[in-house]
Amino acid sequence: MFLPENIQNCIDLLENAGFAAYAVGGCVRDACLGLTPHDYDLCTSALPEQTEAVFRDYRLVLAGEKHGTVTVITEDGPVEITTFRTEGGYRDNRHPDWVKFVPDIEGDLARRDFTINAMAYSPKRGFADPFGGRGDLENQILRAVGDPVSRFQEDSLRILRGVRFAARFGLTPEENTLNAMLSQRHLMEHLARERVFEELCKLLLAAKAEDITRFARILAAVISELGPMIGFDQHSPHHAYDLITHTAYVVEGVPATLPLRWAALLHDTGKVTTFTRDATGRGHFYGHAKESAAIAGGILLRLKAPTALREEVVTLIGRHMTRLQPERKWLRRQVSKFGFSMVESQLALQEADMGSKGTGEDDGSAVFSAVRGLLAELKAEDACLCLKDLAVNGNDLMALGYRGKAIGICLNALLEQVVDERLPNERKALLDWAAETQKDW
Ligand code: ATP
Ligand code: MG
Repeated sequence: MFLPENIQNCIDLLENAGFAAYAVGGCVRDACLGLTPHDYDLCTSALPEQTEAVFRDYRLVLAGEKHGTVTVITEDGPVEITTFRTEGGYRDNRHPDWVKFVPDIEGDLARRDFTINAMAYSPKRGFADPFGGRGDLENQILRAVGDPVSRFQEDSLRILRGVRFAARFGLTPEENTLNAMLSQRHLMEHLARERVFEELCKLLLAAKAEDITRFARILAAVISELGPMIGFDQHSPHHAYDLITHTAYVVEGVPATLPLRWAALLHDTGKVTTFTRDATGRGHFYGHAKESAAIAGGILLRLKAPTALREEVVTLIGRHMTRLQPERKWLRRQVSKFGFSMVESQLALQEADMGSKGTGEDDGSAVFSAVRGLLAELKAEDACLCLKDLAVNGNDLMALGYRGKAIGICLNALLEQVVDERLPNERKALLDWAAETQKDW
């Protein structure tokens, strides 16, 4: 296994001082898969104070020392070095109740969640894989280390981590692991919301449609609003899929950004509560965009999502039924009001939504590409579509005699003229118009 120089160097320093040292966890798993690890965690037989002594010439961060972690600041970034340890349950749902240092690598690997994450590598001592993680990776199996029920009872976040690893690496949970994921999923209710949110974000960025459907019941244990969507027949000629399957395709269909993936997951939550059937038996969902936006806002608040993300998701969902039109003036107004990035996201969500009905009917792709083309044109023109791009500012209007609220009102009126292409974004034209308008006030 290839190790970057700074990692190799840390291992050498520990080994030369008489301690065992390994790269461990995610980096070993990623290397087995032929992927480049995004970071390298090290573990060692050295106790924290011994690690500190070995790295006395380095800058250290000791915040995790109680749990055995010393962070060494190397020339290529921080490296976490953790003493071999086992740990007790997670009664506060965040931190292990206790950790106990152990003398060898096997004891440390046994506390880890899944076999694929319980491998270590040392250039001197070789590969440590006591639970068969490499074989499971080859066979694409997700398997808990030890008894899955008690491992999930110790820390139920492992259930959601399992879903994430299964999605990311295309793994199938082995039978006992899957049964325990399902039977213990209610325990996730007690987890700290931030941990759940963070894990869901990682999952959403990796998920394919089938991951949402195959793990729907587990997801519904942390987002209860998804529960009634499972198997929900829309009774509509426009929808071949039940609500959760449609949702799953939309998640896969949008680009992997957090606002879009969250908006896709929650965009139809309001269909459950707005569902009605007409005399012919056909289903309708009047006002579901607004309803879904409100539900999504509540979910993201509960999960303690950052405000900016929550607001973007709520806006996107609230507007997901407002069809974008390939009409220049209308689009200029939309961009002026919501910004390029929001309109582009709206387009991506609508495209995925229309393309995920499973009926084979027109998915509107011609209209969507026309909208995309127009947006690209607007971008290329570098058109003035917001106040800061206007060729005049408040000071210019004050020089004309504008005062107080009138300044803002006039600037917005000028922007409207420019957005609608009734005035060019040129200083003289704008000032003339402002001076002329002032006479009427
Ligand atoms: P990623 O590439 O997403 O960072 P990772 O496997 O490195 O994946 P981390 O959350 O960084 O995941 O954790 C590092 C290692 O610590 C894991 O590989 C696993 O061995 C162990 N681990 C992390 N969280 C838990 C947990 N809740 N229970 C048991 N072991 C865990
Ligand atoms: Mg990691």
